Amino acid sequence: MSEQFKTSKIKKPRTIILGGKEQVKRLKLGGDNPVLLQTMWKEPLPGNNLDDIAKRLAELQMIGCDIVRFAVPDMESAEEFIKLTKKTEMPLVADIHFNHKLALRCMDGLPAKIRINPGNIGSKEKTEAVIKKAIDTNTAIRIGVNSGSLPGDLKRKIMQAPMLKKNTEFSSQVYTRASALVEAATRELEIFDKFNFKDAAVSMKASTVKETILANEIFARQFENPLHLGVTEAGPLISGIVKTTIAFDRLLSKNIGSTIRVSLSDSCENEVIAGREILTECGKRSGGIRLVSCPRCGRKGFDVQAFVKRWQLKLFAENKNISVAVMGCVVNGPGEGKHADIGITGAEDSVIIFKHGKVTTKLNLKDLNDEEKIKLVDAAFEKELNSL
Ligand code: SF4
Repeated sequence: MSEQFKTSKIKKPRTIILGGKEQVKRLKLGGDNPVLLQTMWKEPLPGNNLDDIAKRLAELQMIGCDIVRFAVPDMESAEEFIKLTKKTEMPLVADIHFNHKLALRCMDGLPAKIRINPGNIGSKEKTEAVIKKAIDTNTAIRIGVNSGSLPGDLKRKIMQAPMLKKNTEFSSQVYTRASALVEAATRELEIFDKFNFKDAAVSMKASTVKETILANEIFARQFENPLHLGVTEAGPLISGIVKTTIAFDRLLSKNIGSTIRVSLSDSCENEVIAGREILTECGKRSGGIRLVSCPRCGRKGFDVQAFVKRWQLKLFAENKNISVAVMGCVVNGPGEGKHADIGITGAEDSVIIFKHGKVTTKLNLKDLNDEEKIKLVDAAFEKELNSL
């Protein structure tokens, strides 16, 4: 594998259609299509109001989310999942472990995709039953391999292999967790190939950045299946974003990855915002709101953090291709504010709003209480934003 790794090129992923033939909203994954952004729902489906979920899915769609995955651990969840597919335009993915019958049932809802884990779905016959139904219903499948649930023989192979020398990224002589992730995916793809099933995406997730990068790079040099990128169990907000950004930057810069999910011990909204920023900074997504804000310090004339907290989701849901600067004081405020399409900055007891470099509003906040300040600032900012 090492010679091939060194000399073979990254293959262009084939395009697969998510959403089958009958869905109103169909998505193209892979090829030259935009890299799609996903998140995973954090609550169980049963016992939660589906209309409320559909409403939040619409909000996630507005801030840039393309696909949402739901855990389907039992038949009750599968029934709720099917009902939800009828209530939302958001392409949904059913996440199935252990029980292939759940995958069979979920496909009756014509979802965007089914995710199965070859490490725990059971016999080859069960996978074959899933593939046959996917062909009948035009459902795409993601083969989701995780380093935590590798087949037993591959785990033993890793244990028996010699250790990689320090600072060695890859060696064909050493069987690593990355090699095992690729081998597990390859085995599964062989079953799909028997049925000439082309609509299979693949993910190989490890909890370390290095293994994630390596597994995906080895795979992308051998196969044309679109890759779903993720660092599994990446951690809480900050460490999760740091690890994921490093891995995704390395892979996306080589055109590896057709869809991404930033896995965080945090909200779906923050997963989407983080993913959106990564895609924008990696040059994979353009347009939308570009938000800059200062870190705030003792000079601040107005509370940048509180303003950003109040406005972040609203701004990302705006269908505008503009830059927004939120600055605490006159040190950098007017400079940044002038470069942005719209800028807001504190200036001692006042707040100034700029549009295209010109001051359009000056608010005197002296003698107002906190509630009055927020009301006045938000109303003025909203008015100026709406006029853009
Ligand atoms: S813009 Fe002003 S408040 Fe914000 S970090 Fe810079 S000096 Fe501090």
